[in-house]
Amino acid sequence: MPFSKLGLSDPILKAIAEQGYQTPTPIQYKAIPVVLSGKNVIAAAQTGTGKTASFVLPILHKCQDYSPIRPKRIRALILTPTRELAIQVEANIALYSKYMNLNSMAMYGGIDSAPQKERLIEGVDILVATPGRLLDMYTSRALHFDELEVLVLDEADRMLDMGFIADINKIVERLPEERQNLLFSATLSKEVRMLARTAIEKAVEIIIKPDDIAIPKIDQLLLTVDKDTKSALLSFLITEEEWDQALIFIETKRGAAKLVSQLEKRGIKAEAFHSGRSQTVRAQLLEDFKSGELKFMVATGIAARGIDINGLTRVVNYDLPDEAADYVHRIGRTGRAGAIGEAISFVSRDDFRNLCAIEHHLGEFIDRKEVPGFEPRLEIPASDVSYAPKKPNQSRGRNAPKKGSKRRS
Ligand code: AMP
Repeated sequence: MPFSKLGLSDPILKAIAEQGYQTPTPIQYKAIPVVLSGKNVIAAAQTGTGKTASFVLPILHKCQDYSPIRPKRIRALILTPTRELAIQVEANIALYSKYMNLNSMAMYGGIDSAPQKERLIEGVDILVATPGRLLDMYTSRALHFDELEVLVLDEADRMLDMGFIADINKIVERLPEERQNLLFSATLSKEVRMLARTAIEKAVEIIIKPDDIAIPKIDQLLLTVDKDTKSALLSFLITEEEWDQALIFIETKRGAAKLVSQLEKRGIKAEAFHSGRSQTVRAQLLEDFKSGELKFMVATGIAARGIDINGLTRVVNYDLPDEAADYVHRIGRTGRAGAIGEAISFVSRDDFRNLCAIEHHLGEFIDRKEVPGFEPRLEIPASDVSYAPKKPNQSRGRNAPKKGSKRRS
């Protein structure tokens, strides 16, 4: 079933198509129509099943019909057990609401609450929060729940394991009675069902078994390397790891031509794909690449934006893209349902800002490695996920927390 059959509006469909999502996952096609119909849902679905989009997409759709949010009010509340999950869910909201005029925010403890209070003053359509900080804000009258329409308890089992039950109950008691409730949990244990009984009346139950998971698995990896040894590293990996095929993204046309000749000097046949080549040549290159005749294609991000090649085993970001959303789109080209795709990004000191923006956008850190013999001389500093890119984001909804965690390790 395609996404277009689920009843979601065009701006949402456009944003998910940009993410490279082709078909809804089982939790998505089961939950989205039910959430759109206004019913309560209790779902057993683990992380990795696409559960976030299964509640975020219909909530976004519903938000379109509401009048503008008033100061200190929120429309939808998503409770998460950890700040990392709050950041990640909010990053997803920002991605999916890219073409909508909505506003979202991740709110969690451990950091100064003043900037969060300030953001609440203008009203927030979708608030993703950890329970403790939310209660503090409510108690200090920094927000009111009277316009709340939807409550989501995400990873409910983890919230219970972490001892949030009293806080959750306090929050639920203060919400308007008339509201929609959605609960997501890896398992529907006795405790989770008890929580569901107190917070949620009459719910549709959806259970996703681990074998129902249909999201292609994409292994993401950062290889730290100096700028001037990137081409040698690429040749080394192609030869040593006996790569069958790769789509290699690079910043400029000149860079693409140079890399192709550097690879050829090392006996690797590659072709450059960019706007400087004629339409006929580009069409032929694409055909050869799809058939497997051409193994290595070096493409500029702009030229490659419109091309439709999915299910690749490997993409390489020779240069990291300027736009974090492009990173997600590029890696979305790899992996088919059930298969494993690999997205390798070369990162040198020059790519640091782009890396911060990408990890901020993803709400998580990508694994870093060095290849022996190619260790960078110029250190690439620890990334900071709270980094906010300078360029204004199209969506009003992007919230960059002022302070954030530093890269672990
Ligand atoms: P989640 O279970 O929400 O943590 O999602 C796991 C991963 O699946 C995230 O990286 C999403 O971007 C990705 N994802 C969600 N829905 C789809 C879909 N329909 N097709 C492909 N990937 C998806």
